[in-house]
Amino acid sequence: MQPIPEDIIQQAVTWRREIHANPEIGLQEFHTSAKISELLETFGLEVHTGMAGTGIIGVLRNGKGPAIGIRADIDALPIQENNTVAWCSASPGTMHACGHDGHTAILLGAARYLSQTRAFTGTVCFIFQPAEENAGGGRLMVEEGLFDRFPMSAVYALHNWPGLPVGEVAVNPGPMMASQDNFFITLTGVGCHAAMPEKGADPVLAGAHLITALQTIATRRLSPLDSAVISVTQLQAGEAINVVPETMQLSGTLRCLSQRARAQCQALMAEYVEQLAGPFGVRGEIQWEYGYPVTVNHADQAATLAHAARSTPGITQVHTQLPPSMAAEDFAYLLEACPGAYLWLGADGPTPGASLHNPYYDFNDQLIAPGIGLWVSLVEQSLNPVAVTSED
Ligand SMILES: [Zn+2]
Ligand SMILES: [Zn+2]
Repeated sequence: MQPIPEDIIQQAVTWRREIHANPEIGLQEFHTSAKISELLETFGLEVHTGMAGTGIIGVLRNGKGPAIGIRADIDALPIQENNTVAWCSASPGTMHACGHDGHTAILLGAARYLSQTRAFTGTVCFIFQPAEENAGGGRLMVEEGLFDRFPMSAVYALHNWPGLPVGEVAVNPGPMMASQDNFFITLTGVGCHAAMPEKGADPVLAGAHLITALQTIATRRLSPLDSAVISVTQLQAGEAINVVPETMQLSGTLRCLSQRARAQCQALMAEYVEQLAGPFGVRGEIQWEYGYPVTVNHADQAATLAHAARSTPGITQVHTQLPPSMAAEDFAYLLEACPGAYLWLGADGPTPGASLHNPYYDFNDQLIAPGIGLWVSLVEQSLNPVAVTSED
């Protein structure tokens, strides 16, 4: 493919910095959303607003042919930015610490370029999705009929990836990111004087055993080839130093790389909580806040995206077997509803920057050109490339 013209790259860098300076939390991306729809209209796209509240679909049609979707997330995080760059967040306590400003600018750049060049036959749906970080905007869009209203044969997304050098990308067939569920355990015993424990039933001691016992699920109950992380991260119990409290609360997060391991862990955790507490004279209950499913790439679309990456200027290495991340991503909901693939775009320059969700993080603008190039290459390759006519 042709390199992306410099004016489009520079324009996208400017948009990226403008979006960075005006970050908005999930489902409240009102200004970001208005800016995106205004730009898509100037490119001549059909613009559909209001999906999942602040979500936008820009549709670019070019003749009869298949349709594909490309998604960018547009929300920021409730973090106070510590950077001092000129485009620093102007909203105290809110910042683009995950690079969704960059993902949005890349997709806008691709929309502008493709609306001018149109070297494809079919339809491209540019999906600007709210609330990736908290409220599952991806799930809301699917529930609101994203794929019924905009039928497409495949859907794609990328995430900038600190830890992988600029120029390298990763797109595995199979899992890329883990499922995420939060759990809340209540242990109820009988409060008593701490010097006379026989008069009560101690939920703190039961909790101590439970914390270590939960770690045996991954090591002894699941196959060693299944991946799961159970992290107990919060404990609450007791007010007075000489009193055995009546209750203890434990909460944390469960991450898995397959739906099977996820279901197995949830069932085993319930069993441990209910049955391990019994001999302590304590009653255990577990409640769940179910989060994002496993982000699983479909093999054909992962291969299509890897192929597009190999012909993108600025992308020098395409990994297809990198270990998945145990973090979660709500693009998982889109991949449950439609074939597709998700790619990590390496983000580390010579001096690696801050990690995602860090107050010193800033999207690496070097990724704008290869990011736009990747989407252009994907569209031109997968949507019936315009036949080159010969004179013979
Ligand atoms: Zn994030
Ligand atoms: Zn993110």
